[in-house]
Amino acid sequence: MRRWIGHPQNRRLAEWLETGLPADVDAHIMTCNRCAARIEDLAEPEPVLARALSAVLAPPTDLVPRLHHGIDGKLRNRADLQFLAGLLVLPADAARLLLTEDE
Ligand SMILES: [Zn+2]
Repeated sequence: MRRWIGHPQNRRLAEWLETGLPADVDAHIMTCNRCAARIEDLAEPEPVLARALSAVLAPPTDLVPRLHHGIDGKLRNRADLQFLAGLLVLPADAARLLLTEDE
């Protein structure tokens, strides 16, 4: 096994966090408080970063009103369509009635 001279670099600590390897890093962390603390820092996302991430990932605050607006618009369009269809069907029914009376 390779012996460490000094502390492992952040890249190796991050690798150890993900995979549990290499074993020599494992052995070093068991005996080095400084690197154990560095591991904790690497494991926990920075509060600023965590806040920024949750701000980016959170749904927009106006999402619900926008959804309602969209749904209302669709319902209104459907009502308009039904009204238009009614306007077209009515004369057709009247015409059919007139034609059948003539026969
Ligand atoms: Zn160390």
